[in-house]
Amino acid sequence: MFKQAFLDVPPIATADGAVTLPGSKSISNRVLLLAALCDGATEVHDLLASDDTHVMLEALKVLGCEVTSTGVNHVRVVGLNGRLRTQSAALFLGNAGTAMRPLTAALTLMASTQGGSFEVSGVPRMHERPIGDLVDALRALGGIVTDLGQPGYPPLRLGDGALHTLNLKDPIPVRGDVSSQFLTALLLALPLVAKDDVVIDVVGELISKPYIEITLKLLAQFGVHVKRDEWKRFTIPGSSRYQSPGKIHVEADASSASYFVALGALGSTDGVRINGVGLQSIQGDIRFIEAAALMGADVTGGDNHLTVKRGAWPLKAIDLDCNHIPDAAMTLAVMALYANGTTTLRNIASWRVKETDRLTAMATELRKLGATVEEGADYLSVTPPAQSADWRTAPIDTYDDHRIAMCFSLAALSPAKLPIRINEPHCVAKTYPDYFEALFSATTPHAGTVPVICIDGPTASGKGTLSQGVAKALGYAWLDSGALYRLVGVAAEMAGVSTHTDDLAQPDHAQRVAAIAADMAVRFEEDRVYLGETDVSEAIRTEAAGMGASRVSAVAPVRQALLELQHRFAKAPGLVADGRDMGTVIFPQAPLKVFLTASAQKRAERRYSQLISKGIPAKLDSLLADLQERDARDTNRAHAPLKPAEDAVLLDNTDMGIDESIQLVLSWWQGKQPKT
Ligand code: C5P
Repeated sequence: MFKQAFLDVPPIATADGAVTLPGSKSISNRVLLLAALCDGATEVHDLLASDDTHVMLEALKVLGCEVTSTGVNHVRVVGLNGRLRTQSAALFLGNAGTAMRPLTAALTLMASTQGGSFEVSGVPRMHERPIGDLVDALRALGGIVTDLGQPGYPPLRLGDGALHTLNLKDPIPVRGDVSSQFLTALLLALPLVAKDDVVIDVVGELISKPYIEITLKLLAQFGVHVKRDEWKRFTIPGSSRYQSPGKIHVEADASSASYFVALGALGSTDGVRINGVGLQSIQGDIRFIEAAALMGADVTGGDNHLTVKRGAWPLKAIDLDCNHIPDAAMTLAVMALYANGTTTLRNIASWRVKETDRLTAMATELRKLGATVEEGADYLSVTPPAQSADWRTAPIDTYDDHRIAMCFSLAALSPAKLPIRINEPHCVAKTYPDYFEALFSATTPHAGTVPVICIDGPTASGKGTLSQGVAKALGYAWLDSGALYRLVGVAAEMAGVSTHTDDLAQPDHAQRVAAIAADMAVRFEEDRVYLGETDVSEAIRTEAAGMGASRVSAVAPVRQALLELQHRFAKAPGLVADGRDMGTVIFPQAPLKVFLTASAQKRAERRYSQLISKGIPAKLDSLLADLQERDARDTNRAHAPLKPAEDAVLLDNTDMGIDESIQLVLSWWQGKQPKT
């Protein structure tokens, strides 16, 4: 996951890869709660690992549920059978509405009837998200709820430690026009206390009905069959009892699929393949594909996958009631940038009470890109930039809202081929921690647009440590070009081909070594390096391999043979490349080139302590001599000699710690970002 303050997504040329989506947030948190309320153990497979499911799992543990991880994205939950195991606790629920609303309902009923008292709270934004309609419904049936902050908003105290009797004879009214999560919360909680039939009446027009469908389907899987009359009345049959299905699979997230459906519609000729969710999904947001198809997407699929490519181009502007797909509709708002006219998304007032006020946020951010946007009380109209030259790029603010971060990444397909900066990209962790990794794996950026930071310098100047540190901080790939030359030397030796300077001076011999360089079956895996099936990680790090590299690297055909291999390391979102000629020859267009130096004495001392700490015997004098010999050869060779690029920044780190130099390079990089 990208943890830094911002992420620049390079302009995307094509999107033809495959992605496997994480589990649905809505299903994950409902299943976890149901598993916690029923009797016995439930194995939950393909659970979403994200901030929102994390807070739910933590809350369940605090409540006394036994939760064990049984594999990647698999957990086993032993339920409470509707009985409190702890009488009081404080639960922090972050910004997870899917945890706050149902837990509030379930704990109010259990605490009020079993004499418990619980506090629920979240991040500041959670304390601005309304819950009053649910609280009113719970109070109406005799549940005890105390406002601990602003009335109608979390934090809340549920129960007061005393026993209370609930009135479940009268129909329970609940508003359905602010958030469908209030109704979901009651539907999930009331089976715990339904001795006779319990009736819920929806007041107002119920929004987001598909989410209620998910709730009803999952309740049925846990043994509770709710009767639905239109979308007005729901009856929980008397003596309903939760029963664990034993094992349950969580579908992949259909809302997360929307970004890749859009990606296919915007930039794919062969199709983006989306695994984990299919045409028959139980999630309402699957109907996003109908909306995307209206705009021109070519969508096909099966039970558990979708394939999407470009159909109509430019996309067709639409005027659509989006009440049935509130979350995925944000993706339509960004697709509207690529349409042939004004797109209007209607009936989306619920956007105002989500992770942020999404109506205002979407309008503000779309305008930054050059769109003309009308923000209504419950609708959004988006008119794209008139022509390619009118597109702008700008840092996109994400308001701690995962969906804003994900949908605006699609602006990287702009016809103006502009990169797009996403501020605070880690907010995607709410539902899709690896979203950007998946995006980059399924797309190819325009040639030459991947940002590269070059760090060149002499042997033992600390390039490797510095570049790795910078790459890690930025979530970029790392190219250790010295390792490639070391590999050539080792590969030649393995093939019985000499790397002596005299032999290399023979053109035929040089060509043989170059052919070895061109054909090397090299694989980098984690911190290991393989030549074919042989692990050469240690072999290439010896002093002898360093000297061999220095000799073969002076041979022009060898350098030429490694050119393309090095270019292939430049993958989105960026690359940190270290070596001798990264800035001068390999990536001359790189926006930041650093030339690292330190005195020969200091470098020899560093290498000496490195070797000693690894238990390898070394002599300072001979290390210094070797190093000076390599410096001289690297600097004086005819091809790609070691020297700073004209536009390189010099960094003498003789008296500098590693963290200090990493921070310095990162600050230079921020200054070098594309002007927006
Ligand atoms: O950086 P390292 O010590 O691993 O590099 C080994 C040798 O490979 C260097 O001494 C240098 O001669 C050569 N090299 C090069 N060009 C690069 C990287 C390394 O010529 N870009």
